[in-house]
Order: sequence, then C-alpha cells, then structure tokens
Amino acid sequence: MAQGKNTYQFEDLLEKHQLKKTGARLRVLSMMYAKNTATSQPDLESVMHDIDRVTLYRILNVFEEKGIIHKVFDLNGTANYAVCSSGCHEHHHHDEHLHFNCTACKGVFCLNELSLPAINLPTGFQPTGFTLYASGLCPKCSGASPKSSPKERT
Ligand SMILES: [Zn+2]
Ligand SMILES: [Zn+2]
Ligand SMILES: [Zn+2]
Repeated sequence: MAQGKNTYQFEDLLEKHQLKKTGARLRVLSMMYAKNTATSQPDLESVMHDIDRVTLYRILNVFEEKGIIHKVFDLNGTANYAVCSSGCHEHHHHDEHLHFNCTACKGVFCLNELSLPAINLPTGFQPTGFTLYASGLCPKCSGASPKSSPKERT
C-alpha cells in the first residue's frame, strides 16, 4: 500500500516494457509493489485464486526477463520475487545488493541502500553478477522498529 504507485503507473510500466496491459499483470505488479518483502509464487496464488498457476508463472518469468523483478531465494530455497530498482533493464539486472532472510517471519528483504564492497575473484573467474544473502531477524521480529525507537534519545 505504501509506495504510492497507482494503476495508471503500473499501466505505464507495462507499456514501457512493451507488455500488454492485462488485469492479471496489473494485479501482480500492485501486490509486489505493496510489499516491502519479496513474494513467492505460492504467496501470489494464495490471494489470486482466479489466476491459474501457469499464467502466474509466465507473468513472473516475463517480468523477470524485462528487468521489472528479480529472483531471490528464501531460507527454504523457494524462489521469491522482488521489485527491481530502476537500474535494471531487459536481460540486464543490477540487483547486487544484500538480501536479508528473516528466520522468524521468513521475509526476504532487499537492502538496496547498502553499498557492497568490491569482491575480487581469483583469476579466470568472470562473474556476471553477485547474489549476497544474510540471515537473522528483521527489524519487526527483533523488536526494533526501523522508524521510531524512543530509547535512541538520551
Ligand atoms: Zn533487476
Ligand atoms: Zn521478520
Ligand atoms: Zn533484491
């Protein structure tokens, strides 16, 4: 609900990526943008009963291909999808940020704001991308609200 995108903006987004504006695609987008964690296909299935599995699978695939969403794995190894930052393009993802897996709520968070150290691989290895994961407790589960913690003021 938060990120202030409305249906028109989702339509624009689909148009920008030369995708047909279908109701199913718009609903998947709005659900993914509304969450601050990554979403798995079973998550989407559980709220979108009228969209069949194959359609959903295709939507996620085409969004990933177009650079709208990227794949992240949760602690069970299930694929989740998170909205990409604006730096991603078709067949060209730049999602080299830390992904945080919460062991309590099982949420997968994209920590875009962290800058990662350069990683130098041994000679001969030519990486096309990095995926970094951390696990532990998210702010909600650790009891520390990210916004206001009254104890901070002394
Ligand atoms: Zn991406
Ligand atoms: Zn959590
Ligand atoms: Zn991410």
